[in-house]
Amino acid sequence: MNSAREQRLLESIPTGLLIGGQWRDSASGNRFAVEDPATGETLTTVADASVVDAKAALDAASAVQREWAATSPRTRGEILRRAFEAVHARADDFALLMTLEMGKALAESHAEVNYGAEFLRWFSEEAVRVDGRYTTAPDGGSRLLVTKRPVGPSLLITPWNFPLAMATRKIGPAIAASCTMILKPADLTPLTSLLLAQVLLDSGLPAGVLNVIPTTSAAQTTEPLFHDPRLRKLSFTGSTGVGQKLLQQASTTVLRTSMELGGNAPFLVFDDADVEAAVDGAVAAKLRNIGEACTAANRFLVHEDVADAFATKLADRFTAKTIGRGTDDGVEIGPLVDRRSREKVGSLVDDAIEKGATVLAGGAVVPGAGWFYQPTVLTDVPPAARVLTEEIFGPVAPIVTFRTDDEAIEVANGTPFGLVAYAYTRDLDRVIRLSERLETGMLGINTGIVSNPAAPFGGVKQSGLGREGGSEGIEEYLETVYVGIAQPGS
Ligand code: NAP
Repeated sequence: MNSAREQRLLESIPTGLLIGGQWRDSASGNRFAVEDPATGETLTTVADASVVDAKAALDAASAVQREWAATSPRTRGEILRRAFEAVHARADDFALLMTLEMGKALAESHAEVNYGAEFLRWFSEEAVRVDGRYTTAPDGGSRLLVTKRPVGPSLLITPWNFPLAMATRKIGPAIAASCTMILKPADLTPLTSLLLAQVLLDSGLPAGVLNVIPTTSAAQTTEPLFHDPRLRKLSFTGSTGVGQKLLQQASTTVLRTSMELGGNAPFLVFDDADVEAAVDGAVAAKLRNIGEACTAANRFLVHEDVADAFATKLADRFTAKTIGRGTDDGVEIGPLVDRRSREKVGSLVDDAIEKGATVLAGGAVVPGAGWFYQPTVLTDVPPAARVLTEEIFGPVAPIVTFRTDDEAIEVANGTPFGLVAYAYTRDLDRVIRLSERLETGMLGINTGIVSNPAAPFGGVKQSGLGREGGSEGIEEYLETVYVGIAQPGS
């Protein structure tokens, strides 16, 4: 049962499709249920878009692209700035909504409100900083003018794990660069995106610039858009498998693509590390978002001299966590997002145990309603265990030991992924070596959290293409145009 406060919030948010500035039903009239993963109960229903709606969304986005691109950078920056303030003004609503539809504890949802809103502020500032250059060609016979223009209508596909931040990390730069958008949020968590869209409209975003199409048939609904030459960009955050399929589809019309994909982050603890600090960092890197983060530490590689102390302290911290519905006081660990996610986490742990791993903490589901899984620490994990090669996406920390730096780096790089790595050490030479040899888009030194709106977020290898945030983020939504101007006789 939802509380009266929860019910009021759920009744106040839009649950239709946003197309051309209008909230409307889907063409089919179908709706789908959004569930609370802590109870399995339906929170509300949302209009279920199909191909007809997706095409209408692209029609709307295409119709206003030229007019939108003609707005001043300051105008767009101020819309973003107003939206930043409006998200903060409604922080309690956004946080509660995320906890209800995704499960994380309220304190974590509030942290995501801050993080997610920050992309709106950051890109409000970036909107007025797009520049080009003017130079003389080396032979002196012409002038080279280099300018930027918006890529054009963009399809933004977001995952369920950070319902606000994954949307603002795309919408912020797209608005700043004057691209129009079709946002397709994950069907598990569409509500936060719908509230965000309303806040953006209320902040002055013109009709048609942002269109939102939640759907239970993501593949069928979006695939036809990839054959339409009016669509110019795909920005996707999600799993590597789906990303690979979308890259193939994007080749049809040679779309610009930004791909934020899966990870398998190594967390290295060297023998000179401050072990207490490393445990703090490990708790953050593993249990933030219940482990359901692309940046979650997936493999703990610990020097054999400090491994026992690290593992024991980590197990104590994990065991002390309070598990429950994210809305309840004192809860630190909410449920996993659905049955499938919990089954996957359980099967990875069982596989590791069968292959010889030792359970130091957790290791089982929490009985009763909701998709809860205990925070788990595993030691003696053999290299063949799937928990070391697959993205866990849950609160499970497998620990393996190493002897030399070379060995640690080789193991850390021994994966097709390369989103983020973490290292605890006090040796500056080693930090530089790691930054040069680890195959990763991001590296956290003596910290368990690297996400920052002012920094370029993204991966190498099968973790993705392009960067979000930082000064790089807006470039993903801009084309470079070069104009050669003859200047004979000068
Ligand atoms: P997912 O299954 O790949 O889904 C991501 C999004 O793609 C959802 O909106 C999904 O819609 C949609 N989708 C799925 N199949 C599609 C298709 N064939 N065509 C068009 N859209 C399709 O990933 P997820 O389970 O939501 O999220 C977890 C994954 O995201 C993890 O691998 C995680 O590492 C990754 N992630 C990466 C980053 C990063 O920045 N690198 C950040 C967060 C998460 P439905 O959900 O409605 O089916």
